[in-house]
Amino acid sequence: MTKRDYYEILGVPRNASEDEIKKAYRKKALEYHPDKNPGDKTAEEKFKEAAEAYDVLRDPEKRAIYDRYGHEGLNQSGAAPHYESMDMQDILRRFGIDDDLFAEFFGRSRTGFGSRAQSRGERGSNLRIRVKLTLEEIATGVHKKIKVRRQVRCATCNGTGARNSSDVETCSTCRGSGMVGRITQTPFGAMQTATTCPACGGTGQTVKANCPTCRGEGRIMQEDTIEVDIPAGVYEGIQLSVSGKGNAGLRGGPSGDLIINIEELPHEHFTREGRNILYELFINIADAALGAQVEVPTLEGRARIKIPAGTQSGKIFRLREKGLPSLEGRGRGDLLVHVNIWTPKKLTDEERRLLEQLRDMPNFKPAPTKEDRSFFERVRDVFGG
Ligand SMILES: [Zn+2]
Ligand SMILES: [Zn+2]
Repeated sequence: MTKRDYYEILGVPRNASEDEIKKAYRKKALEYHPDKNPGDKTAEEKFKEAAEAYDVLRDPEKRAIYDRYGHEGLNQSGAAPHYESMDMQDILRRFGIDDDLFAEFFGRSRTGFGSRAQSRGERGSNLRIRVKLTLEEIATGVHKKIKVRRQVRCATCNGTGARNSSDVETCSTCRGSGMVGRITQTPFGAMQTATTCPACGGTGQTVKANCPTCRGEGRIMQEDTIEVDIPAGVYEGIQLSVSGKGNAGLRGGPSGDLIINIEELPHEHFTREGRNILYELFINIADAALGAQVEVPTLEGRARIKIPAGTQSGKIFRLREKGLPSLEGRGRGDLLVHVNIWTPKKLTDEERRLLEQLRDMPNFKPAPTKEDRSFFERVRDVFGG
């Protein structure tokens, strides 16, 4: 069976605007609507044909494929709708029923049109949690199990809210569409709007007897454990969003999202500057003057660094790629070891005697070079940018 041209079906030119397509479809749909043509098979076929044409032409991607390659193009790309073999009730459920409701299916989401989505209840709310992480966890990424109280789908009724499946009926107010239309008079003329059906809360169904566990909500509040994978390189204040892991929707409606607020725990050794981490190393005057091997902590363990003889306070040693990875996965920061020369705060008699001997020695008289003086500037360069 060959299909007719979609533009021909709707009676619009090939360059028709979205608005013209919408209007043309609406006219056809009203004309062939089954409520107006009860039992008329030809009208039903025409209605399906128009719905299918509209499904394609309202969608810029599908329309572009159709314009270039026709029905065959849609078939090959998997985008071809087959309304002729679809159940009329299915199509109608997606489209709304009453003529007054026609505005509704123009306003409804694409997913409601041509997908297998049933009319469903109100979406659940987003769930916000804080996750506190150590720098070590941030360095590697971490799998977390977090205890929360959240609304989950009721297991007794599987989210329907009904005591038994026979207690579920199609909502008589919206006739199953979950939406009701209303005509509002405005200075610009009559406007059609669609809103969630107040009788069924958008589920398209009413329940004769409520599920005793959830009292008809289809969801219950309970302690739950959420498992999340936190990627490496996150930072304080960033929000991660996990789709569909928030609170369960009303009577089988889609779940909200889980929003994770990252907090960074203070570290005993390090402070963080973007991808770099900073360690404040304290050495004594003798090690600074004579040179030494010292151990410093890293995120993975420890590392040894060589302090050359004559190292000044303020010197920074850079341990490449011992910092944190970037969230985008490109490269890794450094561990910056900032040298501080420790001045003794109290002295024994012997220490005092030795220092007094050193005090007037020729090499103990400060003689900073320009380079020595610029250490402070370099610290600012490293951490400022
Ligand atoms: Zn229940
Ligand atoms: Zn309803």
